[in-house]
Amino acid sequence: MSHPFIHDLPQQRVVFAPGAVERVAEEAARLNFSRALVIATPGSGARLGERIVAQLGARSAGLHAQAVIHVPVDIARAGVAAARDANADGLVAVGGGSAIGLAKAIARETGLAILALPTTYSGSEATAILGTTEGERKVTLRDPRALPRTIVYDPDLTLALPPPVTAASGMNALAHCVEALWVPDRTPVTTALALEALRRFAVHLPRAVKDGDREARGECLVAAWLAGLALGAGTALHHKLAHVLGGYGLPHAETHAIVLPHVTRFNLVAAPQARERLADALRADDPAAAIEHMLRGFPIPQRLREVGLAKEKIADAAAEVAALNISVPRPAGAEDVRALLTAAY
Ligand code: NAD
Repeated sequence: MSHPFIHDLPQQRVVFAPGAVERVAEEAARLNFSRALVIATPGSGARLGERIVAQLGARSAGLHAQAVIHVPVDIARAGVAAARDANADGLVAVGGGSAIGLAKAIARETGLAILALPTTYSGSEATAILGTTEGERKVTLRDPRALPRTIVYDPDLTLALPPPVTAASGMNALAHCVEALWVPDRTPVTTALALEALRRFAVHLPRAVKDGDREARGECLVAAWLAGLALGAGTALHHKLAHVLGGYGLPHAETHAIVLPHVTRFNLVAAPQARERLADALRADDPAAAIEHMLRGFPIPQRLREVGLAKEKIADAAAEVAALNISVPRPAGAEDVRALLTAAY
């Protein structure tokens, strides 16, 4: 029998099409935006932002390309001030999880709606989850105001996404899917979404990283959407571990990628149904080995020591995670977590 569940995923309007960027003004109008502030990261993100400002035409209130990973609180405050100064009546976030995260923080404070144009595979656009940081402390919360109302996916916007960002953000989304198979609040729908996303990523993520072709990128965007929805069911050992390591300044998506094969191997021992489903979706007898194999083929760091984790921090991280008393699908004590992190190191 299925385990008991409550299914309560939020509604969003989702537009997917090559060239969908052309519809951004129309979609902004549907949300009654007449002065939308475009949110992006600096550099390549700002160039995307300028393109969206041009698409919005008279509905644009300008570009705020100041997003930084993990939404530091001073960056969030500056974003709120920029939205107020511009007299914005809506937010259009273009870019990865960082741009979308800043838009979420502004929306939470101002109540403005968000239209998201994701260009990585973080899946953040499909969640009401917002993470902000103050110094080394990362705080994650859920707020319905942070959920984008509309998502516009245009694979053409992702053609210039560098292979390392493609790989790392894709592995981050893969982690949402793997963990969705065992989190206590999963539902038959979130499980199905996660499995469909896994099937698509297994085939298309390596292609998107290697060749960057439009079809593979489109499939990965769809998979990222499904993965983000599956993330709505909650998180367990994997995401908690990544969260703690993120607090030590480790890069977000890369850390997810490195830790995922190890957490998968650790947990699947105690989750036979998840193991079977994962094996089927990835078409691999040993799902943890298949994920590890995928990681090995990607041009991103492979070990925690390569992303700046000091070896002495392993014991601290293990104690911090063990204190959360995670027991599903398998109790994770300090010694277990230490062994897992040492393997990933
Ligand atoms: P990111 O948004 O930081 O982007 C990585 C880099 O890629 C940036 O330099 C960006 O400018 C560049 N980039 C993005 N799109 C590009 C494009 N199309 N062409 C060229 N360059 C491009 O990375 P990310 O992995 O997408 O997001 C990480 C952040 O998202 C973290 O802060 C993480 O906590 C958050 N996140 C949140 C959720 C959630 O549900 N709230 C889920 C996953 C990740």
